[in-house]
Amino acid sequence: MSNAYLSKVLEQVKQNNPNEPEFLQAVKEVLSTVEPVLDKHSEYEKLAILERLVEPERIIIFRVPWVNDKGEILVNRGYRIQFNSLIGPYKGGLRFHPSVNQSIMKFLGFEQIFKNALTGLPIGGAKGGSDFDPKGKSDTEIMHFCQSFMAELYRHIGQDVDVPAGDIGVGAREIGYMFGQYRKIRNAYEGGVLTGKAICYGGSLARKEATGFGLIFYVREMLKAHKDSLQGKTVTISGSGNVAIYAAQKAMEYGAKVVAMSDSNGCIYDYKGIDLDLIKQIKEVERGRISEYLNQHYDAIYTERTSEDSPIWEIKTDIALPCATQNELTLNSAKKLVENGVLAVGEGANMPCTQEATDYLLEKGVLVAPAKAANAGGVATSAIEMSQNSMRFYYSFEEVEAKLDRIMVNIFKACRENAEQYGCPGNYVAGANLAAFKKLAEAMVAQGVV
Ligand code: NDP
Repeated sequence: MSNAYLSKVLEQVKQNNPNEPEFLQAVKEVLSTVEPVLDKHSEYEKLAILERLVEPERIIIFRVPWVNDKGEILVNRGYRIQFNSLIGPYKGGLRFHPSVNQSIMKFLGFEQIFKNALTGLPIGGAKGGSDFDPKGKSDTEIMHFCQSFMAELYRHIGQDVDVPAGDIGVGAREIGYMFGQYRKIRNAYEGGVLTGKAICYGGSLARKEATGFGLIFYVREMLKAHKDSLQGKTVTISGSGNVAIYAAQKAMEYGAKVVAMSDSNGCIYDYKGIDLDLIKQIKEVERGRISEYLNQHYDAIYTERTSEDSPIWEIKTDIALPCATQNELTLNSAKKLVENGVLAVGEGANMPCTQEATDYLLEKGVLVAPAKAANAGGVATSAIEMSQNSMRFYYSFEEVEAKLDRIMVNIFKACRENAEQYGCPGNYVAGANLAAFKKLAEAMVAQGVV
């Protein structure tokens, strides 16, 4: 990094956020790629463009007390990071997972600003959630937790203010309980205050599928640009949640063979191709463990996870799709993938590759579809859900999917064009950051110092 302004801001961010490694990682990744824009716009330093971009507009932290089925009172911590509202109301998911802390919330909120800018839709960036662990909780406990979470969050959100959605541990069930509580407290039907709602009360068709489908549309475009396709390719996908399941479905529709999926305990390998209906039954209906797959497919192989390197990346594959969580694909895993001849890595999760892993993959000529572009289909379809709620009308599944496809094509185009324009053709990680940063900086200049 030779730009002095950039180095100065990065140092400040390190000093101001000493215990936030994930947040620093996300900021560093973006800042390390936007140098050519800063070199062209020396006025950005005087306008403190970077300083304003890396500081959240507002951080809300709150207590979430709730009662479990045994009558015990428990307390979790809730967060909402309203990071940036330059181009629209704050927008971003809620994550319920024991690992949630301020660093993870801030990295996700920061990424969200750029992702949302790439969609071309009017949405700002936010993220929220809690260190609550939904695993093993009864339906009643989940409902009580969601109601208590919303009893505080409601005062900070609104369909023109901040519109949360789901993320890890938050799906249609949790959104439903939170929406019910919000509606009761507000005594008004603000349909667009949350997205990822069930279809029966204002959700959008194809929202559930959108992140996974969008990832595959992006990967399709990326392969097409390199005169290749998904047809006949072997694919491995980490995770077996919302993003992973629908990425698998769309990859199969394009003629790829998905041979492995995982959860936090381990991964399954099925050389015949994964039985996705069974995965949906285990994960979406029974909320079970992926190892149960072997109860019906005796010849599949289950490998327990024993270190930070997930065993799924040791499997030979053409295309690897990390769709579980941050930093799940390490440098060791990247080396294994390259050794086994991987062609492309498509990030379905947020920041799933460590910085070292991304650098290594790019250096070895592997195509990398960066999360903030490749998984933007979820939030883009959330924005389509908001627009349907405003219109008090709905689109068919096919209409939403066609809009999503168009958005992903445009996002890839922006990544490719920016990568070429700034002298790093084929580096879509840099292309995505450059495209989003230019738009945000322009909006900041236009709106003055606020
Ligand atoms: P889900 O809760 O539906 O699924 C998460 C999956 O990842 C599960 O299989 C889970 O396994 C696994 N997982 C979670 N934490 C870990 C961990 N620490 N180590 C290993 N595996 C883990 O979440 P989503 O599918 O919605 O989200 C997955 C990723 O995609 C996240 O990074 C999220 O931020 C990102 N994303 C999601 C969007 C959406 O629309 N849902 C939009 C854009 C990005 P287990 O069941 O064992 O916990």
